[in-house]
Amino acid sequence: MAAPDSIAQILTRHKLRHTPVRRAVLQVLSGSPFALSGHEVEQQLREDVDRITLYRTLKTFEESGLIHRVIDTSDTVRYAACAVGCTAQAHFDDHVHFKCTSCQHIFCLNQVAIPAVTLPPSFQAQTRDYLLAGVCQQCQP
Ligand SMILES: [Zn+2]
Ligand SMILES: [Zn+2]
Repeated sequence: MAAPDSIAQILTRHKLRHTPVRRAVLQVLSGSPFALSGHEVEQQLREDVDRITLYRTLKTFEESGLIHRVIDTSDTVRYAACAVGCTAQAHFDDHVHFKCTSCQHIFCLNQVAIPAVTLPPSFQAQTRDYLLAGVCQQCQP
């Protein structure tokens, strides 16, 4: 889990004002080993945060590159905290995600880069999502 200091540092680095809600939301996301939906973040917050503020905070974080969306085959949007020093632009060449079919958690495999894909001429990719499914470390027999 990220120390309160590093939470403050991340906000400062991304030129965001420090508010109690921002600190709390970032603390929850950076402390989670897997991606969380907005609802799951809400459940883990100790203090009451109204939903509009929470979703606005998630949007601000996403736009600033503190967190990124994790796309699933379901309609649930989940978010994961980015590596320290990460920028919104850096996400394009980012990492593989892994969905555990046993516990249903989605993990960021930060150390596994998305393999290069050669597109036909005149196709320009703007986003990339690479999701593998299987069994995570905790769920292995
Ligand atoms: Zn699992
Ligand atoms: Zn990720």
